[in-house]
Amino acid sequence: MTDDVLIYEKSRPGRTGFSLAETDAGDKNVDALIPEKYLRAVPAELPEISKPELVRHYVEMSTRNHHIDKGFYPLGSCTMKYNPKINDTAAALPGFANLHPLAEEGNCQGALELMYNLGTMLAEITGFAGTTLQPVAGAQCELVGLLVIRAAMKKRGNVRKKIIIPDSAHGTNPASVIMAGYDVVQINSTERGILSADDVARVMDEETAGIMITNPNTLGLFESEIEQIARIVHDAGGLLYMDGANLNALLGHVKPADMGYDMVHFNLHKTFSTPHGGGGPGAGALSVTEELIPFLPRPMPAKDGGRYYLDNDRPDSIGRMHSFYGNFAVLLRAYTYICHLGSKGLNRVSENAVLNANYLKELLKGKYELPHDTICMHEFVLSGSQQKKRGARTLDIAKRLLDFGFHAPTIYFPLIVSEALMIEPTETESIESLDRFAAAMLQIDREIDKNLELVTSAPHNTPVKRLNEVQATKTLDISYKG
Ligand SMILES: *Cc1c(COP(=O)(O)O)cnc(C)c1O
Repeated sequence: MTDDVLIYEKSRPGRTGFSLAETDAGDKNVDALIPEKYLRAVPAELPEISKPELVRHYVEMSTRNHHIDKGFYPLGSCTMKYNPKINDTAAALPGFANLHPLAEEGNCQGALELMYNLGTMLAEITGFAGTTLQPVAGAQCELVGLLVIRAAMKKRGNVRKKIIIPDSAHGTNPASVIMAGYDVVQINSTERGILSADDVARVMDEETAGIMITNPNTLGLFESEIEQIARIVHDAGGLLYMDGANLNALLGHVKPADMGYDMVHFNLHKTFSTPHGGGGPGAGALSVTEELIPFLPRPMPAKDGGRYYLDNDRPDSIGRMHSFYGNFAVLLRAYTYICHLGSKGLNRVSENAVLNANYLKELLKGKYELPHDTICMHEFVLSGSQQKKRGARTLDIAKRLLDFGFHAPTIYFPLIVSEALMIEPTETESIESLDRFAAAMLQIDREIDKNLELVTSAPHNTPVKRLNEVQATKTLDISYKG
C-alpha cells in the first residue's frame, strides 16, 4: 500500500514530465513566441511531477477502484462487459483522434462515412429505417424519442397528454416523460413479472401518445405480450418506445421493429462496449420507423453518391439535441466493436449473455429467493429478504462481496422486488468466474448464520470502508486547497 497523497501534494517546483523540442526559431522559450495578450498572468495551478511518478500515481489509484479489467462486475442493467482494446486502437488512429470538430465536410469524409455506416448498421440490427447518433446517453435518447413522438403527434393534429410506463421501468423513463411535457400513467406488472396486454388496453386511450417498454424488462424477463400490446397501442393511435438498454439479450435474434415498436434506443456504451460508469462519456442512438425519420434531430449524416455530408435541411426535425455530433469517440468504439464481431459474433454475444445469466441463476436460487423462477434473459433479480430476516440486509451482502474482489450487483432496483439483487454477468465471463462468484454468494449466506457481524460490518479488505454515499453529492467541493 502506498501513500494517500494527492497529486498536488506530490508536486515539486520545476519537476516535469515532458520537454519541448527547440523551435525552428531557435528559441527555447515558448512564451516568447506567443503574443503577450494570450499569456497567463498567473501560472496554471497544475502539479509539477515526473513521468514515472505520474504513471505510478494513476496506476495505483486504478487498483484501488474496482473495474472490469480487474474483476467480475455483475452490475445489473449496466452491461459491464469486457471492452476490447482494439476499440481504443481504432479511436487513437491519428485521422480520427486529431480531427477537429469544425473540420470542413470535405476533410472528414472518413468520420462522416463511419457515422453514416454505424447508423445503417444499427437500423439493420433493430429492423428500423433510420438512426440518429446525436444523443450522448440512454436517458437523452429517451427525451429525443419522446420529443419525436410529440412532433409526430403534433403533425397528426393532437400532441395528446399521457405516456404509459410499467412499474418495472428505469427511473429515467418517467423523468424523460415529464421533461417532454407528458404525464406518466403507471401500470403494474403481473405476478409473472411482465405486462399484461389487458392492463394496457384498460388505460390506453385517445389522450395517450404512447407507451415506453423495456424489453427484456428490468427483471430480465421477456415481455411476451408485446405484439398484442403493440396492436392495442397502434389501434388507439399511439406509438411504442422501446428502452433498449437490455439489447445485449436480443442481439441478432429479435428485431424490435418486428415486435411492433416504432423506435428503440441503444446504450452504445453498454451493448457495444465502451468503458462506462463513474461519469465517463457514453453515447446513445435512436432508431426509428420510416414514418418518424423526418422528426429526428438535425443534422443527420447523409450520403449523396460517393460523398458524405451532414444534412441540415430537415424542416420537421425536433432540432439539435447536442453540440457537434454527440460523443464521436464512443460511436467510433461501437462501430469497431460491431465490425470486429460481425453478425455471427453479435448473435453469440446474446446467446452467451443469456446462458451465463441462467447458469448463475440456477447456482444461486437455492439460497437466495428468486421471485420469478423462470428462464431469464441476460440478467435476473434475486431477493435478499430471507437473508434480511436472519439479520443481513442486501446492502450488507453487496458490501461483503467487495471483500471477495467482486463488484456488487445492482441493489434495491427494480423497486418492485424487495431487497433486490439484480445480477447481469454478461457474455464475457468464463464459467470459472461465474462459479467463483456463486461460491462467494453462498459463503456469505453461510456467514450470516455463523458470523453475522462479519457481514454487517463489511467491507474489510477495501481501501475505504462504509462511505457516506450521499455526502459527496450534497456538499460538492472539488477544489484543491493545498
Ligand atoms: C442504463 C439504463 C438507462 C439509462 O441509460 P444512460 O445511458 O445511463 O442514460 C435507461 N434504461 C435502462 C433500462 C437502463 O439500464
